[in-house]
This record gives sequence, C-alpha cells and structure tokens, in this order.
Amino acid sequence: MSESSKRQADVLVIGGGIHGLSTALFLAQAGVKVIVLEAEYCGRHASGVNAGGVRTLGRHVAEIPLALSSRDLWHQLKNTLGDDGGFVPSGQLKLAENQAELEECRQRVEHLQALGFTHEVLIDQQQVFDKVPAVARHVTGGIWVEDDGYAVPYKTVTAIRLAAENRGVQIHENTPAQRIEQTGTQWRVSTPAGSFSAEHLVVTAGAWAGGLAAQIGEPVPVHPEGLMLMVTHRVAPFCIPVLGATGRALSFKQFANGTVVIGGKLIGSLDFLARHGEVEIDRLGSSARTVTDLFPHLKHLGVNRVWAGVEAFTADDLPVIGASRKASNLSYSFGFCGSGFQMGPGTGKRLAQLILGEHSDISLEPFAIDRFNEAAGTQASSFPSASIIPQH
Ligand SMILES: Cc1cc2nc3c(=O)[nH]c(=O)nc-3n(C[C@H](O)[C@H](O)[C@H](O)COP(=O)(O)OP(=O)(O)OC[C@H]3O[C@@H](n4cnc5c(N)ncnc54)[C@H](O)[C@@H]3O)c2cc1C
Repeated sequence: MSESSKRQADVLVIGGGIHGLSTALFLAQAGVKVIVLEAEYCGRHASGVNAGGVRTLGRHVAEIPLALSSRDLWHQLKNTLGDDGGFVPSGQLKLAENQAELEECRQRVEHLQALGFTHEVLIDQQQVFDKVPAVARHVTGGIWVEDDGYAVPYKTVTAIRLAAENRGVQIHENTPAQRIEQTGTQWRVSTPAGSFSAEHLVVTAGAWAGGLAAQIGEPVPVHPEGLMLMVTHRVAPFCIPVLGATGRALSFKQFANGTVVIGGKLIGSLDFLARHGEVEIDRLGSSARTVTDLFPHLKHLGVNRVWAGVEAFTADDLPVIGASRKASNLSYSFGFCGSGFQMGPGTGKRLAQLILGEHSDISLEPFAIDRFNEAAGTQASSFPSASIIPQH
C-alpha cells in the first residue's frame, strides 16, 4: 500500500472506542474505505474498562428505539463477528426495596406500555425471589428485561476491531488528532504522525470529542467524569441476572468465573490532562454497603481490584449522535453519560446509515448537537451529509 493511500480514505474516524470501531465496521461492510485514528490504543478508555452492562432497562425514552436495535445486534454478535464479546443474555432486573419504589416501577412500566414499549415487565416479590433466591427478603418486586445481559468490554472491543480490520479498516494507534479542518470537499486531520484526509469525518472521541467539535465552532456542554468500579474475589454462583436498584445507585453482576462487578455510575475523580480517572474509596464503600444490604452473605467477600474510567457526560444526560449542523460531511457520536457500551453496535450501524445516505426509522433528532442552543430549531442544517458511493 502506498504512503498516500495509508493517509487517504472515504471516511476518517477519530477515536477507537466501541462507537468509532462499530461505525468503521458497518461502513467497511458497505465497501467504504475507513481509517481510524486512535490517540492511545483501541479500548483504552470507557469502552474497554466499563461494567459491561448490556442494558435497555431504565433508559431515557428518547434512547429506547436505538437501544433496542442495538440489543438485537448484541444477540447476533457471534454470527456477525465470529466472537460474542463475552455477551451473556442473563436478563437485567431493577429491584424495588419498598412499596413506594414498587409503585414507581409500576408507573414506569405503564408509561412505557402507553408509548408502545413492552420490553420492561413489572414482576412481584415472589418472581424476584424465583430469579434471585439469595436476595434479601425486604425486596418488594421490580422491573425485569429478559433480553438484556452483560458482556466483557475489552473482549468486545477487540472483537469489533478485528472484524473491522478483516474488512479492510486501517487503524492507527498512538495517533491523536490535533487539528481538524475542511478544505473544499476534503477533511484534513493533523496528527504528530502527519495528516490524514477523507471526504467524511466522524468524531467518536469520547470525553475528548467536545474539544474537537469546538474547533469547528460547535461547542457542546459535555464534561468528563471518572466513573468507578470494583470487582470482588470469586464466590460460588448466586446471581444470574444483572441487578440494579430503584432507590439507590447500583449495578451488580456476577461473572461466570465467580467474581462480582459492582458499580452504578459511581463518580470518582479525574485527572483529565493525564487522561485517567481516580478512585475515591469512601464513595465505593457506600456502594459496597448497598450490595451487602441486598446480599448479606457477601459481607466478608474481599474486593480484588478497583478502578475508574473516563466518561463523557452531557447537560441533559443524552448523547450527541448525528450530523454536524455547521459543516458538511461531519458526524458525531459521543457523550453517552455512563450507558454507551450497550449503544455501541446500534449507534455504529445508525451512523453508518446516515453517512451512506440510507433510510432508517430511528430518528436521531433527540440527539442533535444543536439542541443545547436556545436557537435550536431555527438552525436547520445547511449542509446535509452527502452519501458515499463505495469505490471498491
Ligand atoms: C467505569 C465505567 C462503567 C461503565 N459501565 C457501563 C455499562 O455497564 N453499560 C454501558 O452501556 N455503558 C457503561 N459505561 C459507559 C460506556 O463505557 C461508554 O459510554 C462508552 O464506552 C463510550 O464509548 P466511546 O467509543 O464513545 O468512547 P471511548 O471508549 O472513551 O473511546 C473514545 C476514544 O477516543 C480516543 N481519543 C480521544 N481523543 C482523541 C483524539 N484527539 N484523537 C484520536 N483519538 C482520540 C480515546 O483515546 C478513546 O480510545 C461505563 C463507563 C465507565 C467509565
């Protein structure tokens, strides 16, 4: 391959997390030439270090159509990638711990049903005990989603990366995008390893994406946080589904090897310049107490490892997905607020459809980048994204 062909593509993707790699994979499947630029290594940040929850349960209503379509792709992962990314369709269960919380769950399920969404199902106390016999007896019921589950994050990202490379995607690691600019029909991205060009540019740079959007005059209220997790020593199997709670922060799952991963959007601290999150042990302690309230038999279980990953949060808790409102042939996918691993495959496919000019019933309007502007709505995109005719 010539030096210039290593630097010229149809689409340049900035960021090798699950969103960038999934978008690259779906584009490559359609015959598009894609180059991914990754500042460190693929899966280094949120996509490789998260809790692995594949959860449609409890989503913001605006996210549900995309999350459901993504869930279908998780169930097909083994067929499409040749590797299931460690996905286990274990089901997910949100526990109610008193009557008021059970009522809250009932109202949520009724609200979703009125909107036509039937994936969340209200279950009573006995049904919870049947699914999780070891749970504390004060639990009153909950919401069950049969087709949710969990996966192994770094394994998933690596599987998507390898599938993308097998379809011709070129990945340049240790290659941070420094400047992005559009000249004529070409986007040019400057890096310490020289510049790269393409007609289309996709920004999937996670917590760093806001800085790139600002470069083209499209600032977004997005900020980074360090999200914490802990993993215990091994313990005999006692819980199949992934658990959350209604009244307090909890995300809890037991892997097949017996370890228990405990999180639930626990905010630690962050050294953004050094590009890593830091653990706040006190806050992890309160989370551990929630777990031992629900499973008293775990009181003496030791914690094996704790860590914090960097995640992007927006002002309204929804991601930015879709076309730039300022520039042509520029798309974004970032700001997943602690829940973007599950959305990765579905969003990658949807973004690829947008770039290819293909129709989709899933609207990206709730995720528009200009929704934060007071003038949103009057600022229609003057540069609709052109479609790409595959050149291969
Ligand atoms: C501890 C933790 C637990 C979580 N648990 C869950 C969960 O259970 N379920 C769930 O659905 N979600 C979960 N999430 C959220 C989920 O991990 C993220 O929403 C998702 O991985 C975001 O993917 P991404 O591709 O947008 O970003 P990232 O994975 O952060 O990828 C962005 C990539 O862009 C690269 N980059 C940045 N700047 C540049 C640049 N200038 N040039 C080139 N590359 C650049 C970065 O190095 C990085 O590799 C969790 C997150 C954390 C941190």
